[in-house]
Amino acid sequence: MADAVTDYRPMWEGLGLDLGAHDLLLSAIPMMYADAYLSQTDRPEGMAYFDFVLSEIHGLRIKELMDHKAAGGTVIGTFCLYVPEEIIRALGGLSVGLCAGAEWAYDEVERLLPRNTCALIKSFMGFKIGKVCPYVESCDLVIGETTCDGKKKAYELFGELAPVYVMELPQMKRPADQALWRGEIDRLVAKLEEVTGRRLTAEALSKAIKEVNDKRRALQRLNAARKASPVPISGKDALLAVQVAFYDDVPRFTQMVNAIADELEQRIAAGTGALPAGAPRVLVTGSPMSIPNWKLHDVIEKAGGAVVMEELCTGSRYYEKLVDETATDIDGMLDAVAEKYLDINCACFTPNPGRTEDVVRLAQEYGADGIVHYALQFCAPYQIEATTIERAAQKAGLPVLRIDTDYSMEDVGQLSTRVEAFLEMIG
Ligand code: SF4
Ligand code: SF4
Repeated sequence: MADAVTDYRPMWEGLGLDLGAHDLLLSAIPMMYADAYLSQTDRPEGMAYFDFVLSEIHGLRIKELMDHKAAGGTVIGTFCLYVPEEIIRALGGLSVGLCAGAEWAYDEVERLLPRNTCALIKSFMGFKIGKVCPYVESCDLVIGETTCDGKKKAYELFGELAPVYVMELPQMKRPADQALWRGEIDRLVAKLEEVTGRRLTAEALSKAIKEVNDKRRALQRLNAARKASPVPISGKDALLAVQVAFYDDVPRFTQMVNAIADELEQRIAAGTGALPAGAPRVLVTGSPMSIPNWKLHDVIEKAGGAVVMEELCTGSRYYEKLVDETATDIDGMLDAVAEKYLDINCACFTPNPGRTEDVVRLAQEYGADGIVHYALQFCAPYQIEATTIERAAQKAGLPVLRIDTDYSMEDVGQLSTRVEAFLEMIG
């Protein structure tokens, strides 16, 4: 990382980063990564790719984005799973996830937003205000969406700092909502055509749908291996793979994840585990976890548990469903895109029975002994829906531990105590 800081400084300066503040951020991430990741034993060898990606998080990938722009391409930032990356890709854009998982510039953020705003929103505002995120500074356009109240109001302020376009996401899934959403997909295409200066073609969209599906299929393979006991990959490593999926080069990522999936299949055949066979198995569900938010997985796995699945936006919600590949014309393809994305089960929807069903089904498929429900403080959708999840899980005989937390490390001791007691109970 030290070399990378030296090598990429002119590029960061060109992007307008606050180099002093950025140095501070870049010195913190390797320490967090070493403590959470490099301290693990028995990791799959293929995870070396992700060690490299993290060591270059603000280096090589940003250079690739800059080269892409220099060649006439665009970079489009997103904050939510509902923004279709297939359309961005088909119009020559590279999609980058901008949700942030660390506290930054909170003093300045709290002059704009109430203190009781969720950590994810405060963090993405802080990274922008503090000028420490080269991803957001690379963006030609940032796409927001009307999901939770906090996000949609924050985009109004964020829009004063960066070019923002907001998609209207319905909050129910009736036929009228599906029609509204389908219209939003058309409006997104028109906006992206304007920003990229290109026309959407059936050929480009078909290719992008296939490439993004291949990425999701690779993640499905990697995650399917976690059904085995002993689990061949830690929850932390599996979480990292999905976090990186939001900004890495798509074909390269797909190839590397498929290589890890091959390795995991060999490890299963050989009975090799990343964590002990008897470790209590846990499904984690709730608010998204963005890089470098590894806190809860780290607490669970250091306490002797194995996280075997995430029903999260940085988990199954990202890769479980695919866009249908059979349509041959643009309208049919956009219908398929709209259908796939509205089928995501975020707590912003009401009612949201699909998420409850997914949590119970995944816990059973992955042999979870218990469920940890994770909500960011002040995230009303997930904090409130936790009750529905808890009732359904208990009906299915699955114990639930509810955790409400934020990005600070102050409660790690207390969380560890609660997680240890839970693991003892379910183990
Ligand atoms: S939790 Fe909901 S609003 Fe947040 S990123 Fe996921 S889908 Fe979007
Ligand atoms: S974590 Fe919750 S409150 Fe925060 S942006 Fe996502 S849905 Fe909104």
